[in-house]
Amino acid sequence: MPYPELAERLAAVRAAIDGALARGGHQQRVTVVAVTKTHGPEAVRAAWEAGLHDVGENRVQEAAAKMAALDVPVRWHLIGHLQRNKVRQLDGFALVQSMDSPRLADALHAEGVRRGRPIDVLLQVNASGEASKGGYAPDEVVPEAERLTTLPGVVVRGVMTMAPFDAGERVLRATFAGARAARAALAEVGHPAAELSMGMSGDYEVAVEEGATMVRLGTLLFGARG
Ligand SMILES: *Cc1c(COP(=O)(O)O)cnc(C)c1O
Repeated sequence: MPYPELAERLAAVRAAIDGALARGGHQQRVTVVAVTKTHGPEAVRAAWEAGLHDVGENRVQEAAAKMAALDVPVRWHLIGHLQRNKVRQLDGFALVQSMDSPRLADALHAEGVRRGRPIDVLLQVNASGEASKGGYAPDEVVPEAERLTTLPGVVVRGVMTMAPFDAGERVLRATFAGARAARAALAEVGHPAAELSMGMSGDYEVAVEEGATMVRLGTLLFGARG
């Protein structure tokens, strides 16, 4: 069996999440999204068999190959940057977590209208302000929240963010609180923004303490990527 340690690793993750939930006190439910990028379809099957029903992929083409090779009914999340000319390739995805610009929002809206079924998205916010990171700047969120109410081809389910790699606890908490504020701004103008996707292998416990409803875990579940 591939990934023989997955069940044990997942049990440890779930215990750590329970501890973080108790400390954080936001009273949310947390979905573990298994990040299978660079791994083969067998990682997705192993995730499903371990009880993980949500899978995150960075690239549409890599994900499409795995979708074609598998019959397990996982929910596919796109967590990497999407080029606007690839919005037609989103059919198999349940949630686009990486809506990172107004221009991509426009393209996703147009695709949702074209296919007659809106696309569920998270707004990716660059809450840490790093120049190298994609996503909306925090001060762009309020005007964009307003504008997105005019785009029925997308349904804004919440916010996704990434903290700086190797950040200390103070920066992590500030980043995650920034994402929480962005979600509040979306909800304020009527978006059904319940989700807060934040936390990766190195920082998911702090993210859960700060209110994460989805954590995106690769390395911790499947080992280092080759
Ligand atoms: C790769 C990736 C993850 C998972 O990272 P790990 O540190 O391996 O858990 C989470 N979110 C995004 C956006 C990623 O690209």
